[in-house]
Amino acid sequence: MSAPEKIFDVLGIGFGPANIALAIALEELSSGMSVQFLEKRPGPAWQPNMLLPGSDIQNHPLRDLVTPRNPRSRYTFTNFLFEQGRLYEHLNLPLHHPLRAEYAQYISWTADFFEHIVAYGCEAVSVEAVTPSNGESAHYTVCCTDGRVFLARSLVLAPGRTPHIPAPFADVKDRRVRHLNDYMPALAEAVAATGGQCRIAVIGGSQSAVEILLHASCHSGVREVVGFTRNFGYRQKDTSPFSDEVYFPSFVDTFHNASAEHKARLRQELVHTNYSSSDIDVLNQLYVRKYEQMLQGEGLLQLRTCEDMVGCTPASDGVQIDSRQYLQGIIHSQSFDLVILATGFLDLGAGDRQEPFPKLLASIARENEIDTLIIARDYRVDLGNGLPTYLNGLCESSHGMGDAGSFSLLALRSQNIVQSLISNLAVREQSHA
Ligand SMILES: Cc1cc2nc3c(=O)[nH]c(=O)nc-3n(C[C@H](O)[C@H](O)[C@H](O)COP(=O)(O)OP(=O)(O)OC[C@H]3O[C@@H](n4cnc5c(N)ncnc54)[C@H](O)[C@@H]3O)c2cc1C
Repeated sequence: MSAPEKIFDVLGIGFGPANIALAIALEELSSGMSVQFLEKRPGPAWQPNMLLPGSDIQNHPLRDLVTPRNPRSRYTFTNFLFEQGRLYEHLNLPLHHPLRAEYAQYISWTADFFEHIVAYGCEAVSVEAVTPSNGESAHYTVCCTDGRVFLARSLVLAPGRTPHIPAPFADVKDRRVRHLNDYMPALAEAVAATGGQCRIAVIGGSQSAVEILLHASCHSGVREVVGFTRNFGYRQKDTSPFSDEVYFPSFVDTFHNASAEHKARLRQELVHTNYSSSDIDVLNQLYVRKYEQMLQGEGLLQLRTCEDMVGCTPASDGVQIDSRQYLQGIIHSQSFDLVILATGFLDLGAGDRQEPFPKLLASIARENEIDTLIIARDYRVDLGNGLPTYLNGLCESSHGMGDAGSFSLLALRSQNIVQSLISNLAVREQSHA
């Protein structure tokens, strides 16, 4: 292991949109804190395995990494287009929202400005709080897979959410069963392994599920695509402007202040603003694709609705999936060369589709006998060690629907975290003066 040279004021783990927005806010708002980010990927990327041709983003492009906080910043999406020399061409596009490929370029372009403070190819694997016996101030020690070690007075954790793997797939260790996070490389592997005769199952009723069904069903080397959803049909997102106020900063206050019972009620009502549902453009395309295949007498694309997953058994000639059509109680079994779980992500908490802690903080929490993380309005968590520790982009269960699954609040969330860091690090410095 390499010996760490300095103690950073702020160490960010993960350099996706959440911590890129933080890097911008630290540069624009803070007074010279020393900052380092760790990113396990070899370079900047945003959801690289889901950059499907023609797919668009689901947020207004001005709700980018910085505009809602500082529209005059050089890091806005508008300035990105301007500096690329394609502002007019972009504004002339007959699209409701920008292409995901273009937004991914914007994210990478922004990340590149901060290259000097990001260690790429560096996956954090352990986080430990250290209190030196010589009276020096406490700090975190973070170890990475490549042997590098980093010390810091505060931590901002932004690793993205943990994939949700439904029960029948939870214990299956097989490269033919993959989460949507791996879709494009998994598809390439499966097509190659089957000599261009690939059978694919897509589990779930999310936006990603519908996009993958559309992509796979016209991809060469694929001979069968079956979508499974437990819903009656693929559902449209709730795009009412009234519901979309969940992406307002004021909603974060409303949600954070609500009781557990009221949070659950709000979530139940508003979940389809982003989850288990899709935009109408891709739903219409999927419906027409299905109809077109019926006209041509083809059976490449099938959609099995009202189906609960009950089993998954890998074998040499395919992965067998068992599903139960709940209306008739009939079990359907079918084998596939690739099973894509478009089944979403976990939130923090003790309920269904939740995990109690981000993996990297689990051992510290257990050591300090913390059962439940209390996440303050400024995204700070108390791990019982006094060190400023923040969660950036993991807080839907405490801060509402706009937190993890959307860009909408990234810019303002970074501002909250930076302001809290400034006051907490200053307080700690004074107490050790
Ligand atoms: C397919 C897809 C499409 C989406 N499209 C939209 C959209 O159009 N609009 C929208 O508002 N939202 C969209 N979202 C939601 C989107 O995930 C978030 O808006 C955004 O990516 C969250 O950023 P993040 O930085 O919190 O997480 P991520 O984007 O997941 O970034 C986390 C980063 O941390 C790194 N990392 C993880 N663990 C470690 C570790 N231990 N050490 C070092 N690095 C680590 C990862 O490599 C990654 O780069 C989409 C999500 C998906 C899955």
